[in-house]
Amino acid sequence: MAKIAFIGLGNMGGPMAANLVKGQHQVMAFDLSAAALDAAVAKGAKKVASAAEAVKGAEIVVTMLPAGKHVREVYEKDVLPNVAKGTLLIDCSTIDVDSARHVGQVAQQAGLEMVDAPVSGGVGGATAGTLTFMVGGGDAAFAKARPILEKMGKNIVHTGAVGAGQAAKICNNMILGVTMLAVSEGFLLGKRLGLDAQKLFDVVSTSSGSCWAVNNYLPVPGPVPTSPANRDYQAGFTADNMLKDLKLAQQAAQASGASTPMGAEAAQLFNLFVNSGNGAKDFSGIIRMLDGK
Ligand code: NAD
Repeated sequence: MAKIAFIGLGNMGGPMAANLVKGQHQVMAFDLSAAALDAAVAKGAKKVASAAEAVKGAEIVVTMLPAGKHVREVYEKDVLPNVAKGTLLIDCSTIDVDSARHVGQVAQQAGLEMVDAPVSGGVGGATAGTLTFMVGGGDAAFAKARPILEKMGKNIVHTGAVGAGQAAKICNNMILGVTMLAVSEGFLLGKRLGLDAQKLFDVVSTSSGSCWAVNNYLPVPGPVPTSPANRDYQAGFTADNMLKDLKLAQQAAQASGASTPMGAEAAQLFNLFVNSGNGAKDFSGIIRMLDGK
């Protein structure tokens, strides 16, 4: 049993921390949101008053925060000044590669090992403990992180040095943003052509149009009971977060000279969706904008 500090207990961090508790670890939890913290305590985590307090005496620190600026701030103000030597730092947030490398570097300067370990699989995967982790960091740090990550996920892939986890993540999420738009368009066209959504799902989910956005996260209510479409597009994965990831992918594409015209189009469409007041909705709700609603 390890003593684990868990900072950021939102849609993803909450169920991930709950799985660490189930895995017999002692979880010291902190979130700025009292509601998020209370939900984690109800699942067996121990509430502490600050991030600084959470990390004191912890063997492992897991962060699951919205964006790079939150991770930099929590690392610089709370984590690095208060952790013991030998503590392993695992950041599971999706952030820009530069921030990941920066916190990795300052951690190293402080004599600490850090991995960036963003996830894929959504709230469903976080709850079921079936997330995919893409991990950037040294071999020794990865070996130490693996058994902890295995309590929260099923596929743990070591993608390279610190920052390589985030690089894999933005490639994946650019694919997701583009495929969600394609699936939305396909099902909207099907509706106009008089097709029943269930029948179209029965075909596409077993045909060459099959993908995660169809099989696990269909933007149309009915065929996939767990998808946010069945609960008025309550997140899930917010449109704000999808837009963040698509912008990160575009920045990376420009910096590296990669050609990503579909990713650029997806970023523009999600920008429009978010700027119409839908940032807190699930990203799959973009189907309603495409439908003129
Ligand atoms: P969320 O907004 O639900 O949770 C973030 C939590 O961090 C909130 O509870 C917030 O109060 C807390 N927080 C912010 N600043 C803090 C601070 N300084 N100290 C302590 N707590 C602080 O977001 P989420 O959906 O859980 O996503 C978290 C990360 O995971 C994001 O980077 C997101 O892109 C990524 N992600 C999300 C999903 C998904 O389906 N939701 C999937 C994969 C990856």
